[in-house]
Amino acid sequence: KLTNDVSPLKLPQHTIEEIMTTTPNNITIKEWSHFYASGLHSTGQNKPLAEWTMKKWIEYGIEDTKIEEYRVYMNSPVSQRLALLDSSGAVAYEAKLMEDIIPEDESSKLQNAVPTYHGYSANGNVTGHLLYVNHCQISDFRKLAAEGIEIANKIILCRYGKVFRGLKIRHAQLFNASAVLMYSDPADDRGISVAHGYEEYPNGPARQHSSVERGGAQFLSFVAGDPTTPGYPSKEDSKRMDPQSVIPSIPSLPISYENALPFLKALNGKGMRFDEWKGELDATYNVGPSDVEVNLVNQVTYGIQSVWNVIGTIHGSIENEVVILGNHRDAWVYGAGDPVSGSAALMEVARSFGELLQHEWTPHRTITLASWDGEEFGLLGSTEWVEDHADFLRENAVAYLNVDIAAIGPHFKASSSPLLYSLLRDVAKDISVSKDESVFDQWQTWNNCSIKDLGSGSDYTSFMDHIGITSCDINFGYGTAIHPYHSTYDSSYWMEKFGDPNYVSHTLTAKIWGLVAIRLSEAAVIPFVATDYAYKLTDYFDKLVSALGENPSVSLDKLHNSIVLLHENAAMLDANATLARKLATYVSGKKTYGQHIQTINSKFKLFERGFIGEGNPQREWFKHVVYAPGIYTGYGSQTFPSITEAIDEKDWKLAQIWADKVAQIITNAALAIDLGEFDIEAG
Ligand code: GLU
Ligand code: CA
Ligand code: ZN
Ligand code: ZN
Repeated sequence: KLTNDVSPLKLPQHTIEEIMTTTPNNITIKEWSHFYASGLHSTGQNKPLAEWTMKKWIEYGIEDTKIEEYRVYMNSPVSQRLALLDSSGAVAYEAKLMEDIIPEDESSKLQNAVPTYHGYSANGNVTGHLLYVNHCQISDFRKLAAEGIEIANKIILCRYGKVFRGLKIRHAQLFNASAVLMYSDPADDRGISVAHGYEEYPNGPARQHSSVERGGAQFLSFVAGDPTTPGYPSKEDSKRMDPQSVIPSIPSLPISYENALPFLKALNGKGMRFDEWKGELDATYNVGPSDVEVNLVNQVTYGIQSVWNVIGTIHGSIENEVVILGNHRDAWVYGAGDPVSGSAALMEVARSFGELLQHEWTPHRTITLASWDGEEFGLLGSTEWVEDHADFLRENAVAYLNVDIAAIGPHFKASSSPLLYSLLRDVAKDISVSKDESVFDQWQTWNNCSIKDLGSGSDYTSFMDHIGITSCDINFGYGTAIHPYHSTYDSSYWMEKFGDPNYVSHTLTAKIWGLVAIRLSEAAVIPFVATDYAYKLTDYFDKLVSALGENPSVSLDKLHNSIVLLHENAAMLDANATLARKLATYVSGKKTYGQHIQTINSKFKLFERGFIGEGNPQREWFKHVVYAPGIYTGYGSQTFPSITEAIDEKDWKLAQIWADKVAQIITNAALAIDLGEFDIEAG
């Protein structure tokens, strides 16, 4: 029989929630933020911070905390050089490749503390003519090729934005270019531009002219984690594959718009010009090629280095249902926003769990906290850990809750698996921003509580796309970001002047993150809604139908039927879950409960796993058949990736094969959640 009795030692749920949401405060968060952002902590260069994080978690009572180390293949900068040559081949302009010292911003005083370079960039010393290719999207290159413009052996100048940086280099490579220069144009870089009336940092939030976006340049939609160990963990003696197909083979450099301007000007009046390709600098943005040549040198060394994840586990009464919270700890430079705002929030969540542990609390489900290393180079720490613990996670993981940049503005944003939509919205209703406004109210006002599909670019990728663990990613930001992303100026000074001056959004993140975690861990019935998934599948199906048009050679009937079946079974599962919740709401620390509730929970837990297939074409590691990062975009999500991409390439045969395969997978997923002759009352 189902009971809801709470043994005298156990805290009632409302008390648990109250502790989780009243413990986080902006004073302690500010302290963590200052500590994490006070020094350099790049990938593999942050062992003291890993140890400090571990020590704090243990101090809060999370005794089972340890550092898990992996040995990853990566590069380090040696020297970078960039010059514009004159017609005789002499240096006409040499780019500084360094961010300015800004007197007000203490952090910027150690100039060039982290050189401006790309993670996983290729070595090279290349001289050639320059070509401007807008955002280096595949469509930009195709447009030039269609115009008959020669791309081979050119040095490509492009602006950041639209797609993941590593894929820009991949596209340039596909067209046989010899190198890529990538700069942050005020028009579309993550900076509110000077042209729109904002002042430049440090007087205003606009991107400072010498500011550079560093960043990993691996081919994000094809690989996650160490590119030499796809699908298995990077240990000292692991077998290593040749990474060449998933990291650049031509050199690249990230540069500031100050450094880009002379190169853009060398293109003034040369070759074609497209209005849509114009940025906001004082240049004509002609495509070129330039008459004069450019010399680009990128010298890096490749080797095996250590990354350190901190993993802390609060063991629940049941061990086979686990809720995981994670954030990366490595930054490009000081990273007050990316990732320190998230790391500070995670520390505050750990402190809140510590408060509960002081009350002799045992969670119902197991809770694991993770502080990842190596995210910036390609999600290294999280991916190697997931690959290492894949069997355990497949069996036991209920959800993975990611926070990367937690707080660089006032608006709540979420990307998520549909299973978590309802929980995220419920939690947002229960966290107030002021006396009469909740996070939900604000969220509704600014974007109607919209939740985006998960693409890639942060540590949820291996959980969601490789294993099929229900994931979400939350943060506070602006509509248009003002954040000095991956630059030295992502500092405490910037944070306190522009990002989150009083650490209010930091604190809200900690409260929301903690409350989502605690409801997932304590609810008798896992608070997922399966029909939300079915509705989304129908939307994605409609997108396929319109992409296909009037094409009679591909039939989506089986796929349609599979979604209908999944919807029916999801509705049954939800109805039974609702009933079960009436019988037993929360069961903090209690081991036993009705057999029927266990059945429902196991169906919810494994639901997302049902969408895992053999691997998508061209990128086997990405196994989720509903979501993957777009093959040409990286950050953005592609729904029904294998079918959509086949349709995009007009490969109707492949589209049919994948439509049928996905239909089979969804049918199996639907059958897996079928409750059969199920009578909750009899439980
Ligand atoms: N979040 C980092 C970035 O966007 C890393 C993403 C990745 O390398 O996968 O640069
Ligand atoms: Ca690996
Ligand atoms: Zn980050
Ligand atoms: Zn980053």
